[in-house]
Amino acid sequence: MLAGAGPPNHAHMTIATRPQLDASAVQEFAARVRGPVIRPNDAGYDAARAVWNGMIDRYPALIVRCMGVADVIAAVRFARQQGLTIAVRGGGHNVAGFSTCDDGIVIDLGPMKGVHVDPRAMTARAQAGLTWGEFDNETQAFGLATTGGLVSTTGLAGFTLGGGIGWLLRKHGLTIDNLLGIELVTADGELVNASATENPELFWGLRGGGGNFGIVTSFEFRLHPVGPLVLGGALFYTLDQAPDLVRQYREFVQSASDELTTLLAFLTAPPEPFMPAELVGKQLVAVALCYTGDIERGQQAIAPLRSSVKPGVDVAGPIPYTILQKMFDAGAPHGIRSYWKTAYLDELSDPIVETLLQSAQKLGDLAPFSAIHVHHSGGAVRRALGGETAFGRRDAQFVLNFPACWMDPEQDAAHIAWVREGFDAVSRFSGAGAYLNFLGGDDGEDRVRAAYGEATYARLAALKREYDPENIFHLNQNIRPAAAP
Ligand SMILES: Cc1cc2nc3c(=O)[nH]c(=O)nc-3n(C[C@H](O)[C@H](O)[C@H](O)COP(=O)(O)OP(=O)(O)OC[C@H]3O[C@@H](n4cnc5c(N)ncnc54)[C@H](O)[C@@H]3O)c2cc1C
Repeated sequence: MLAGAGPPNHAHMTIATRPQLDASAVQEFAARVRGPVIRPNDAGYDAARAVWNGMIDRYPALIVRCMGVADVIAAVRFARQQGLTIAVRGGGHNVAGFSTCDDGIVIDLGPMKGVHVDPRAMTARAQAGLTWGEFDNETQAFGLATTGGLVSTTGLAGFTLGGGIGWLLRKHGLTIDNLLGIELVTADGELVNASATENPELFWGLRGGGGNFGIVTSFEFRLHPVGPLVLGGALFYTLDQAPDLVRQYREFVQSASDELTTLLAFLTAPPEPFMPAELVGKQLVAVALCYTGDIERGQQAIAPLRSSVKPGVDVAGPIPYTILQKMFDAGAPHGIRSYWKTAYLDELSDPIVETLLQSAQKLGDLAPFSAIHVHHSGGAVRRALGGETAFGRRDAQFVLNFPACWMDPEQDAAHIAWVREGFDAVSRFSGAGAYLNFLGGDDGEDRVRAAYGEATYARLAALKREYDPENIFHLNQNIRPAAAP
């Protein structure tokens, strides 16, 4: 179906110079698919080409909003016939902007939002256009969940393929640790399934290898009893308290139970009803948390975070899991400008803490969205060390991220410089590798290789040669097909 033509839009100053697609081939393709095919002159083109990161401003020749597997197959075959660059989109949250492109085709799975929960088997089959908020809504109807994103609008697809860290990770592992099967359209436009027993090598690679091997149309997940009430929220401290707090925190997490997953964040106090007016806009440090076991036991477990260094604001308490999953949504609106850098930390040593504090002190000029996040890992993530998934570093204690976000394009340089300066300073102390889902657009091939380590990268490159030898799925944290033996 071709989308209706609308008024010309500002995108078109560049369109005239772009390569022309065969109009009759486009008509024929549009007639074959159920979802709308949107071109630069169509109403809705600007909305359809936009991704979460407002810094990314690309002009695809076509956007196909797939309604089902048949549309995805048709789109891959059409793209190949026409020699079009392919960008694949789940929720559009990738900060590097890989889910759009100039001149090529965006194969957008956004409309594919089917989800079927089997409460008895504690599994869910989910189509690739779902966001975590939508998925959680369905699974929580049965008091079930699996590890999902900290912002509910994040796409389930890209998130899962890169690993998936969220509030349940220490108890239930990464999202890929809860993946039972995948249905995928290959570079040849064929539908294949992958699981522990069917195409197991492909299944291994999809669990951490990103969008390199094809377009996933649906995922099957293992679910766990969670909530509906969990102990969650955040404790906020002043920046003066930060040195003592962080020293205490790093001891605290060593013996934390797997029910408890925490995130240490340096941020600007948000204008939320719970935040005292005198603190709004001030730089704070927070421990955000989720305890998935018995709530009273959770209160005892987090008591040390409330005793020797006392939080000025304490909003940790019983909360519906679905609300906790939206706790950070207001800080990450669609279209915000964003630039990230990430590293693993094997420890929170004094020099690292000092370096992070130096960066945090500059957040005042970058308010209100930019922050520093230190995700505590371990637990079930570490216990799954071994060869079953293509995930890079399960042994790292912390995942550090500098997610700079801002609205005004005039602030681009200041935010990007702050991230780079903070990241460079901490790089002297950080561990090897990087978490794939937090890599930015300028991180480059070396960091992708490092994210996996040489042996895993070589195994992924061999798999890539088998499933996508021409690298048609290259708009991603790309794994180059290995040379023929
Ligand atoms: C506000 C925000 C919060 C976040 N929070 C977390 C978090 O808590 N934990 C975490 O681990 N990560 C988090 N992330 C990072 C997130 O995991 C990645 O950005 C991920 O790529 C988002 O997936 P998506 O489907 O929305 O992205 P998209 O931009 O749609 O896709 C990203 C890439 O994934 C691949 N892809 C997408 N769909 C498919 C598919 N169906 N088949 C094959 N390949 C596909 C493609 O290569 C595509 O380029 C967050 C990101 C943002 C912006």
